[in-house]
Amino acid sequence: MNDDQFAFFKQVVETTGPSGYEQDTQRVWRDRVQGAADSVKVDSLGNAIAVLNPGGNPSVMIDAHIDEIGFIVRYIDDDGYVYWAPIGGFDPSTLAGNRVSINGKNGPVYGVMGRKPIHLLDQDERKKAPEIKSMWIDIGANGREEAEALLSIGDAGGRAAGMHRLQGNLVTANSLDDRIGSYVLAESFRNLAQSKPQAAVYAASSVQEEIGLRGARVSAYDTDATIGIALEVTWTSDHPQAPKTELGSVKVGNGPVIFRGANTNPRVFERLVAAAKTANAPYQVDAIAGGTPTDQNAMQMSRSGMATGLVSVPTRYLHTASEVASTDDIDAAVAIVTRFVQDLGPDVDLTP
Ligand SMILES: [Zn+2]
Repeated sequence: MNDDQFAFFKQVVETTGPSGYEQDTQRVWRDRVQGAADSVKVDSLGNAIAVLNPGGNPSVMIDAHIDEIGFIVRYIDDDGYVYWAPIGGFDPSTLAGNRVSINGKNGPVYGVMGRKPIHLLDQDERKKAPEIKSMWIDIGANGREEAEALLSIGDAGGRAAGMHRLQGNLVTANSLDDRIGSYVLAESFRNLAQSKPQAAVYAASSVQEEIGLRGARVSAYDTDATIGIALEVTWTSDHPQAPKTELGSVKVGNGPVIFRGANTNPRVFERLVAAAKTANAPYQVDAIAGGTPTDQNAMQMSRSGMATGLVSVPTRYLHTASEVASTDDIDAAVAIVTRFVQDLGPDVDLTP
């Protein structure tokens, strides 16, 4: 990742875009691919699909979801505190004290996820995991009127921890799920635009994944591609209390994970592994028995079926304010996806 790429990565990670409210983040992504694309289409849900070589054969859709988990405003009380409902899946014990950003009518409104401090918790409360209903967002407003000048019912936002570098090539931020995928999607697409692939390439930056793979169902139908590759993040077993006997072996820094299982076409899996070897990129293999909880699942069952694959960057502490991943794994994912598409030609046989 060079400095220009890191700047784009940081910007796409730090721009808030919860499910249904992805517009700002989608704009950042679109600006990155616009110059490389033959065309970019945005549909009524907000999916953005960048197209390259539309007459090519075969056709391949590469997908990453642009949305993130977040908070939707439901009620503002007389003191100006904001009550919310979750967008997507949170572990409530990871929320108290988080910095958040809500996209208000005049731009981002910063706040803090408030909860009673430990001093005020009774013995029972201390033993129990916190509940989402025990938390509110504090934007520092002095009363309802001041808060309502900035925020309306139905505004939404997410965490705003910002991105920081750790040791080695590790980075931490919220929403690496799935802005890592958004980055890999944009940079692979830009590489492919330079190398004139035989395939028709549809780079779909899909919305609303975190609330049920909703955007990808529509973008998959629209592209009607033969092959579909989903770009994601995946949990790891390289931290304490993660038994490999149950989770398999996945380690940050050892390369992106190429998944096997019913959701993956076996020929696509083989071709992804071959692409990793040709590109000299590290990779790991993991398995998911059924449909994966990713856009790959929507793609595989679209129309008459897509031959799908899943490439996921290992990421610790998923769905917290401080997810952790390696830029080396991200670079390797770009190399694998680029090579995979470059090696597709009209004669490709994906019969399992
Ligand atoms: Zn995701």
